[in-house]
Amino acid sequence: MITAILFTLCMAVAVGVFFYQLWRRFQLLRSAAPVSRFDRIPERIRTVLVYAFGQRKFVRRNPGAERSAGWMHFFIFWGFFVLSIQILTMFGRAYSDSFVVPGFGPHLLGRPYSLLRDFMEVAVLFWVGVGLVRWISHAPRLYGFLPPERGVRDKSHLEAYVILIFIGLIMVAGLIYDGGRIAARSENAQQIGGAQWAPFSTLVGLGLVKTLGVTYAHQASDVAWWVHNLIVLVFLDLLPPSKHFHIITAIPNIFFSKLEPKGQLSKQDLENASRFGTSHIDHFTWKQVLDMFSCTECGRCSSNCPATATQKPLAPRQLLLDLRDYLYRHQDEMIKKRSRRGSENDTDVAEVGENIVGSVIQDETLWSCLTCRACEEACPPMIEYVDKIVDMRRHLVQEESRFPKELTRTFKNMETQSNPWGIDSEQRFEWAAGMNIPTLADKPDAEFLYYVGCAGSYDDRNKKTTQAFVRVLQKAGVDFACLGREELCNGETARRLGNEYLYQSMAQMLIETLNNYRVRKIIVNCPHCFNTIKNEFPQFGGSYEVIHASDLVHQLVTSGRLKIAPEFSKRTVYHDSCYYGRYNDVFDEPRMLLSRAGARVHEMQRHRKFAMCCGAGGGRMWIEEDPNKRVNLLRTEQALQTDPEVIAVSCPYCMTMLSDGIKAKQLEDKVQTLDVMEIIDQATRSA
Ligand code: SF4
Ligand code: SF4
Repeated sequence: MITAILFTLCMAVAVGVFFYQLWRRFQLLRSAAPVSRFDRIPERIRTVLVYAFGQRKFVRRNPGAERSAGWMHFFIFWGFFVLSIQILTMFGRAYSDSFVVPGFGPHLLGRPYSLLRDFMEVAVLFWVGVGLVRWISHAPRLYGFLPPERGVRDKSHLEAYVILIFIGLIMVAGLIYDGGRIAARSENAQQIGGAQWAPFSTLVGLGLVKTLGVTYAHQASDVAWWVHNLIVLVFLDLLPPSKHFHIITAIPNIFFSKLEPKGQLSKQDLENASRFGTSHIDHFTWKQVLDMFSCTECGRCSSNCPATATQKPLAPRQLLLDLRDYLYRHQDEMIKKRSRRGSENDTDVAEVGENIVGSVIQDETLWSCLTCRACEEACPPMIEYVDKIVDMRRHLVQEESRFPKELTRTFKNMETQSNPWGIDSEQRFEWAAGMNIPTLADKPDAEFLYYVGCAGSYDDRNKKTTQAFVRVLQKAGVDFACLGREELCNGETARRLGNEYLYQSMAQMLIETLNNYRVRKIIVNCPHCFNTIKNEFPQFGGSYEVIHASDLVHQLVTSGRLKIAPEFSKRTVYHDSCYYGRYNDVFDEPRMLLSRAGARVHEMQRHRKFAMCCGAGGGRMWIEEDPNKRVNLLRTEQALQTDPEVIAVSCPYCMTMLSDGIKAKQLEDKVQTLDVMEIIDQATRSA
């Protein structure tokens, strides 16, 4: 009786504190900006099954991570699910010594559950031990391509290990509780029952009986019951203020993750918006706030970030934690603002806190981002970074006209000549001289439009790729035409740099041209153009079938329309571009084409989903970089580790960055940088 009263008091206090904290967090979510994430429920459930319950990002093969780190989380995650029944059972035993959760009695699931519970307790204990040993021995992190991230917070590590110790104690207490009860039922160790269905608890029971005797074994079980339950209650109250809040928020965060194409940025309403971009903490949407709640502080994002790797002032984890800390410091204001909103005009309610752009998050931090998505790909609770960074860039560019000075020229060039180089737009089709390429004006019923893009039209090195690709199309008899001088830039660079106004005007002009010609199928040989036309133009009424060059050429080869000789026998390493690879899952076709051409294809450590950006994404192509901290040099070094004769690319920006890297290393005589289409062009000539 006294146990029941005492435990009820403890539980009432702990649960009360827990729900109060939860309610405050919920209020914070409700006070954030709206966003629609309640659509496509079956897809959302599937995402939860794969990424939360399947722990996909933890246990998949990741060339930069020890899988043991993933399995540790897998067992702790599932351990908690399985052991929640045990926790309920042990809570219920405060009131009845024979309490069982309905359905988990000895005649139903009780016995198999005992077996599973025992196994999970030991498995979790094992992985907790591994974590603690690694901590004590200062072992390096188990994942990531980089040395430990700069600015890693010791506080968060200490907190993580305190929680780990708690988890371990809960497991030990559970085993002693069950072992002691099993022991108490028997007169001597040999008669101890339950070995079959609770082998580990039985072993603990045996140990208790042998060392303490039956009576003390039973008392040890009672002590373990208190230890177990009190730690669970303390643990509960530690969740909301700690990084372990993700235990509660990670599954909802995965459920509400973005289902639109990965490469589609949000469309800004330029006509009706009262502000452009994100500058205050209350401008973030509730999903972005949920992201802040859900960070496990594991550091996978920063360990995969090329900006962090090259000592730029950006480490995505730190960016998120800075935002989260600022949010928590201003939570009262956020919640008050929401309650004022009900009574006043929305626009009259002042913003919360100071302008965070330039204070909490520095301009240089935002301009360091390559929008490469490596952080998001690595993040287990599927936290979204690129949208937040671009939203803050939108504020900088559109509200404050504050951006790296070299971008003034880039934006102006795009506005006046429809290309970032600022080359006379009349010269856009000069690459095609003598190639007998029809324009849509000549041939409006062509099956495909080949959209070349600015780099393939104006940059001398990339013009060679364009010409090679056209030769391949002509050889296979593909019915295509170009826009010629009518072709316009699609504005992708402006969008990634936060100049949404410029992007939208450029995109709309191009869409108008495409729609006037009733274009249906577009071939593209630039991942940036491909991503924008395929994934972002539908936001503005431009929906087309967009095919990337390697997909089309692969179809031509497999159907026999294009003959290639497998004589390109060079040792070749393929560099995945972010906007084909991570954003659009184009991994296989370029590799298959290289193999068909006879190349001996090798992989860098960071390849496919885990590939590292060349340094040009997110408009960084147009921003000056400290010569000693260049991303393209680091990527070139990674490629050179495979001792290649050829670095193959599928992107004009990657071509520029990696050939510059090879030049800087003075290896032009030994290592060629070629586009996959140039290799195919060579292979068709010898076929
Ligand atoms: S998108 Fe790329 S550069 Fe930007 S924070 Fe993420 S990993 Fe770093
Ligand atoms: S954002 Fe994701 S990957 Fe980065 S520390 Fe947090 S949970 Fe880990």
